This record gives sequence, structure tokens and C-alpha cells, in this order.
Amino acid sequence: PLPIVAIVGRPNVGKSTLVNRLTGEREAIVHDQPGVTRDRTYRPAFWGDREFMVVDTGGLVFDDDTEFLPYIREQAAMAMSEASAAIMVVDGQHGPTDADTEIADWLRQQNVPVLLAVNKCESPEQGLMQAAQFWELGIGEPYPISGIHGNGTGELLEQLVEYL
Ligand code: GDP
Ligand code: MG
Repeated sequence: PLPIVAIVGRPNVGKSTLVNRLTGEREAIVHDQPGVTRDRTYRPAFWGDREFMVVDTGGLVFDDDTEFLPYIREQAAMAMSEASAAIMVVDGQHGPTDADTEIADWLRQQNVPVLLAVNKCESPEQGLMQAAQFWELGIGEPYPISGIHGNGTGELLEQLVEYL
């Protein structure tokens, strides 16, 4: 079975945009490999000769007073349990938010290597400054990227495949 990479982050940080870039906007498929969760969408992605599946976990929010909170947490944990690695996406045009901190704290409790993608960093110079703010999340090196333009995604993927 192909390794699975879970894309996590709060809403609007650019998860779907990044998934589209990683997968080349290939058709979303519901994968039929055994053991994977039925109601999630897995999409094939390649980097060099490495193939993996990307799953967008949807916008994780843990501090909403929604009645679905236990369900959301359970779904997210299930996605992580089958993942070989996770990419946490944050918005580089805003500093870390409380929701980012909560998600990072939660991720640290999962037994999965995490890469931190600081999205919306179109400018290389500003990107480094924007990314540096996210060291405080405590989940490792922040990688400045632009999901829209593709900047920085090569470095991110280079590191990602080391975990697969
Ligand atoms: P999701 O809710 O995390 O899946 O986020 P989306 O992929 O739907 O993107 C949310 C918003 O951020 C949209 O308006 C995107 O156009 C914008 N966005 C996504 N990626 C980038 C990026 O790399 N740079 C900039 N400037 N905007 C982005
Ligand atoms: Mg989305």
C-alpha cells in the first residue's frame, strides 16, 4: 500500500490549494486499499520516483463549541492513525493563532512525523521572516511555501519523502 500523507490545519490556510498542487489536480478518488477509512478522499501524488496518497483532513478546529467536536477529533485521529507523515499548513500572512497552537499541540501527541508548511509566502525574503514566527509552535522547522505559485514546495517534498 502507498504511504499516506495527511494535510492538516485550520480552515482557510490553503490546504486544498496545496493538495491540488501536490496532486496536479488529478481526480479525487476514494481509494480502495484495505485499511483506509472509507469516507475520505485520497489522491495520488508523486515526487521524483516516489508515489504517495494525500488526504485532506478538512479544516481542523478544536476550539469550536460545536456539537460535532468529538466526531471531528475522532475523524482527525483516524486520519493520523493511517498516515506515514503529516503536513501542518499555517497562514504565513498571519502569525500563529490559538487554533494553530491547539492543532500543533494535538499533532505532537500523534505518533506521526510532521512537517510545518507556512503557506502564502510568495516573496522569498519576506517568507523567511513570516516562517520564523512559527518556530514557537514547537513542531520543528517552518518551511515557507506558496501553494498557489509553488515556491518552496520542492524543499518541503524533499523532506517529506524522507519520512515515507
Ligand atoms: P483551506 O480552507 O485550508 O483548504 O484553504 P484553501 O486552499 O481553500 O485557500 C483559502 C484561501 O487562501 C483562498 O482564498 C486561496 O486562494 C488562498 N490561498 C491558498 N494558497 C495560497 C497561497 O499560496 N498564497 C496566497 N496568497 N493565497 C493562498
Ligand atoms: Mg479546503
